[in-house]
Amino acid sequence: MLIQKAVRYRLETTPEQENLLARAVGCVRFVWNRALAVQKSYLDHQCGTLNYAGLCELLTSWRNTETFGFLAESPSMPQQQTLRHLSRALKDAFDKNSVKKFPKFKKKFVHDSMRYPEPDHIQFNLKPVDQDGRKVLPKIFLPKIGWVKFRKSCLIGGEIRNVTVSRSGGHWYVAIQIEKTVTDPVHPATSAVGGDRNVKENILALSDGTQFLPVTAYRNLQKQLAREQRKLAHKVKFSANWKKQKAKITRWHQRIAEIRKTVLHQVSTAISKNHAVVVLEDLKVRNMTASAKGTVEAPGRHIRQKSGLNKSILDQGWGMLKQMLGYKLQWAGGMLLLVGPAYTSQTCAACGAVDAGNRKGAIFCCLHCGHEAHADVNAAQNILARGLQSTAGHAGVVCSPE
Ligand SMILES: [Zn+2]
Repeated sequence: MLIQKAVRYRLETTPEQENLLARAVGCVRFVWNRALAVQKSYLDHQCGTLNYAGLCELLTSWRNTETFGFLAESPSMPQQQTLRHLSRALKDAFDKNSVKKFPKFKKKFVHDSMRYPEPDHIQFNLKPVDQDGRKVLPKIFLPKIGWVKFRKSCLIGGEIRNVTVSRSGGHWYVAIQIEKTVTDPVHPATSAVGGDRNVKENILALSDGTQFLPVTAYRNLQKQLAREQRKLAHKVKFSANWKKQKAKITRWHQRIAEIRKTVLHQVSTAISKNHAVVVLEDLKVRNMTASAKGTVEAPGRHIRQKSGLNKSILDQGWGMLKQMLGYKLQWAGGMLLLVGPAYTSQTCAACGAVDAGNRKGAIFCCLHCGHEAHADVNAAQNILARGLQSTAGHAGVVCSPE
């Protein structure tokens, strides 16, 4: 089985390296924006678009001119890589089966990053020592930037596919994508469990009665975040103070995201260790979060309640949980099943009766047989039953996380 994994480390940059990196990602953004403008004008004149090779020729000509010669001072591979991304983005935008939108111009300080697609150009020094033989931070060699120290928190195991350098919250990071082949694992457990993703009370309730409490990190820190965001609005855009404030806000977001991620990792690790099969509802989280506001022609209904709901959905990071469970189970030799969500909360797990009156808030009480249970646990049991049913008939529902 082929496993793909990404590890991310914070770079310990010197001021000179920060300058070089800022220029390098600036060049990548410049190449993207200029190439996109060229493609747009081609489209405006109904001339189709340039393919990747055509874009690369264009890039070479820019790098040779006096006006855009600064591009040649920064690494070339990430500039070519961004053209590869652009070509793919345009292809996707014109693909009728794809939901991807037309690519946009990139803004400064928004997802500033660059990718080195060729691992051969990257070098590592993972156990460096100083002149006195003491251990120092490991280093990574990035073409045209040089040796940069980084904080290694876990092992780099496997074959390196590519390396992405990005700026976030005033710091630079390197993400390394790794691929390795392992022999097909066999899951130590034989149990299957269903999980219901409740909005109000739990991250997840399991069919065996286990409940995981929610992450409220976002809501608790939100007020402070809002205050910092108001401060930003009063500052002159792109001024030194504005940049400082922007970085502060990014750090707040990072903190919230880190807490959420840690909790979700704990939950998904626990579940994937104890159960070989996990069944979840195939909720389209992104659809739910996008729909509340509606459009001008068809404004969304119940906007108030829904946006509250949306906040909690995003708060819990359900999509992320599903993804984590998906790959953790896969790596352990188990699997994640997704089933249709219709009526799982109104169906009695004991007698199978479906009735909207069965559910009263957090309590499930069957109007037909009197079965009583926690509403989410009852739903989780229905989800599990649905999952087992679907695998018994035909194994067509095995899903990999998106
Ligand atoms: Zn019943």
